[in-house]
Parts: sequence; C-alpha cells; structure tokens
Amino acid sequence: MRSDKEGEPLALVIIGGGAAGLSLADWLVRYDREELGPGSRFDVTVIEAPEGPLRPAARTWCFWDDGPGAYEEAVTAQWSRLRITGPDGERVEAVPGPSRYRMVRSTSFEELVRARLAAHPRARVLRATVRRVQARPDGRPGVRVHADDPAGLPFVLDARYAFDSRPPAGLPPARTVLLQHFRGWFVRTDRPRFDTGSADLMDFRVPQPAHGLAFGYVLPLAPDRALVEYTEFSRRLLTVPAYERALRAYTGEVLGLGGFAVEDVEQGAIPMTDGRFARRTSPAHVHIGTAGGATRPATGYTFAAVQRQGRAIAAALSRPGTPHRPAPAPAPHRRRALAMDAVLLRALDTGRVDGPRFFTDLFRRTPTEQVLRFLDGTSTPLEELRIGLRCPVGPMLRSAAELPFLPRRAAPGIRPAHPANSREDHR
Ligand SMILES: Cc1cc2nc3c(=O)[nH]c(=O)nc-3n(C[C@H](O)[C@H](O)[C@H](O)COP(=O)(O)OP(=O)(O)OC[C@H]3O[C@@H](n4cnc5c(N)ncnc54)[C@H](O)[C@@H]3O)c2cc1C
Repeated sequence: MRSDKEGEPLALVIIGGGAAGLSLADWLVRYDREELGPGSRFDVTVIEAPEGPLRPAARTWCFWDDGPGAYEEAVTAQWSRLRITGPDGERVEAVPGPSRYRMVRSTSFEELVRARLAAHPRARVLRATVRRVQARPDGRPGVRVHADDPAGLPFVLDARYAFDSRPPAGLPPARTVLLQHFRGWFVRTDRPRFDTGSADLMDFRVPQPAHGLAFGYVLPLAPDRALVEYTEFSRRLLTVPAYERALRAYTGEVLGLGGFAVEDVEQGAIPMTDGRFARRTSPAHVHIGTAGGATRPATGYTFAAVQRQGRAIAAALSRPGTPHRPAPAPAPHRRRALAMDAVLLRALDTGRVDGPRFFTDLFRRTPTEQVLRFLDGTSTPLEELRIGLRCPVGPMLRSAAELPFLPRRAAPGIRPAHPANSREDHR
C-alpha cells in the first residue's frame, strides 16, 4: 500500500490492542468518520498478541468523566460519590459535581472497539506477535514491522507510522520508583452490604506497611457484589498468600462483610516512577500508553491520559501535510504535573510525608472537582498552588530541593501479573 502521498490512505500500524492501542484506533476511525468526511483517510492495522503470556489478564479501568463518554456502552458501573477513610476511621465524602467515577471492564471495551473497527472500511485487528520494528529497507519514509502469526510464521508489514504500546523490557532510569500493586476480589455477599452510589477510593483502615502505604478500595457493583482490593504503594510486590491475608483481614475485620464468595480476582502492578519514558524510537515509530509514559506517576491512572493521547494523535494526523512530518508524539502529561509527582513520590518514598494523612487531607481540604482535575493532570496553575499550600509544606519543599541533585538510576521492569482466576467461599 502506498502511504506517503497526500490524499492517499495513510497506513498506520498500532502495536498492542490494550487500552492505549484500541483507544488510538478508535480515535482514528472516529476522526475519519466525523472530521474528515467521506472517503477514509486512515488505513489502520492493530496487531495484538495471540492468547498466551504476552496478553495481559482481563482488568478493570476506572476514570472520571462528566457525561456519557465514548465508551458508555462498555461502562459496567458508575458512582456519583467517592469516599476516603483515614486510618482513624474519619470519613471524607467527596461528591465530584457532574463527574462520575466510571468502571470499564477491558473485555467489554475490547468488544466495543473491535465492533467499531469492523465497521470501518480500512481498519482491522491482526493476531500476531511483533518481534521488531525497523526503518523501511527501500529507503521510503516509514517503518517495517516484523511479526509472527499465531502459527509462528513470520511476515512483515510496511506502514508510514507505527504506534507501539508493547510494555518496555525495563523502566527508564529514575530517582524514585514505587509500585502500585494490588489484588482484588470480585465478591458476592450473603446479604446486601454495599452502597451502590459510593466508591471507596482509599480506605486507610488497613495495617500500614513499614515502607510506603496501603489502602482498601471498594467498587460496589450491586448491593451484594463488589470489587474489593488491597493496594500498596511500595517498592516490592507481595506474594499471592500475603495479598490474600490482607484481603481476608480487610473484608472480615474492617468491612465486616460476613459470608461471601469470591467469584473472580484481579491483580496488577503499575509503575510509579519519575523516570522519563522515551516517546519515540525514530521519526516514524512512537510509543504510546504505559510504554510511552501515559501512566500518571503519583496515582497510576492511565486510562484518561491514553484518551487524551489518542485524540491528540488522531487530530495531528488529520492535518494536511501529515505524511511528510514525523509521527506525532504528544506528551501524555504536562511537565508541571510530572514535576509535582516527582516531589510527592520522593516525599512518600523517604517517609517524610505520612501517605494516609496526605491523601485524606487532600480530599478533606480541597473541593473534590479540583482534586480530580489535579489527579487527572488537567488542573490550572492556580488550583495547583492552592493544593500545594494545603500540603505538608516543609517535607515537600525539602524533597523538591534535593531532587535536582539525585542521580537517575536504572530500574528493573515489572513482570506482568497473570494470576489464575480463583473462586473461593468465605462462609
Ligand atoms: C489490573 C490493572 C488495573 C488497572 N486499573 C486502572 C484503572 O482503574 N484506571 C487507570 O487509569 N489505569 C488502570 N491501570 C493502569 C493502566 O490503565 C493499564 O495498565 C492499561 O492496560 C495500560 O494500557 P496500555 O495499552 O499501555 O497497556 P496494555 O493494556 O497492557 O496493552 C499492551 C498490549 O500490547 C500487547 N502486546 C505485548 N507484546 C506484544 C507483541 N510482541 N506483539 C503484539 N502485541 C503485544 C499486549 O497483549 C497488550 O494487549 C490498571 C492496570 C492494571 C494492571
């Protein structure tokens, strides 16, 4: 396919069909339909790994949205109130104005986006394992993607640009690396136990680890069903039995759920790092999603950032003259947000800031909508200044002052967690 002339379909390869890859593909077909008019402009191939070790387990993605968004059909549950509970049981009820906290299951999201791609004349999802991306050997601008089909047969695909969401082998050198790691149970209780209007974002009534912080997270799906997670921000993953012990204590001693069955599990680890992720390998090969730095360092939230990233890429590719420019590689987060996260990560990692107190006070002292904009990276400088003044100023200033003098050290990668789904009865 020719793709380097104005007016001809632009051949785009998206590597990885997870949150970032499918979101970008969806934005591209939407732009094609809504902004560019009849006659499709983009030729989109998503290459997604076949079933096996490269494919992550099904997961849930939560994000804030102030209206029915593009993925409303895939939203499993939504909450208009958020709760943060301090270690002493003090509860902060946060009502995020018109915003709702929404949950999308990755399986429903994939189904929805795949159906949209199937309806586009030039979009497809290929099952294959990408091995390598290189410059085109014929000297024309673009990339050649080397992949193996599910039977192991190698093939190549040429495109003008590649957007790559494969997880990197290691994390970039950083001053601070923490992990947000968790295990959750989808529980069904014997009696109605949950308030379906409220999500418990952070419940600090769990024993705190020696380093970092820990909290419970409860997303009610029905009066007798919820996703209940135990989460830590710390340097090391726990063993499955250790997560299970923490979940048993939280569901039993703190939530007092009584009898319940575990219908499914979710486990994961998200890097929280001030390392700088490379956004491109070459003018035609760009990294997106977590691999391209879309995970917000201080919170682990990624889904909202990959939407911004997908939209910005689709908008840039829609402009005239595209094939003659390097691939767009928009920054997923503002520099200011990353700088503030670096300070907070350092303050948490050194133990200068009491994590549970910090997050509880953040929600208690600041209007919820402002906190959510701050966590999403869309707050204004004035809002950030106000939030900054309500933080423990001394420890934060000390952390900020030492950051420029700290070396960025190589950090290990995180092996993806592929927990076997387990069902248990806790009656
Ligand atoms: C359990 C869990 C829950 C999370 N919950 C939230 C949340 O609530 N809100 C939020 O904002 N963020 C959340 N995150 C963080 C983040 O949103 C997710 O990690 C998200 O999946 C990242 O999207 P991605 O596209 O960058 O990576 P992925 O979704 O992991 O996609 C990468 C894709 O690349 C494919 N791939 C890998 N290697 C190859 C190869 N060689 N060839 C072809 N394909 C390949 C994989 O199969 C995969 O589909 C969560 C993370 C986890 C692990």
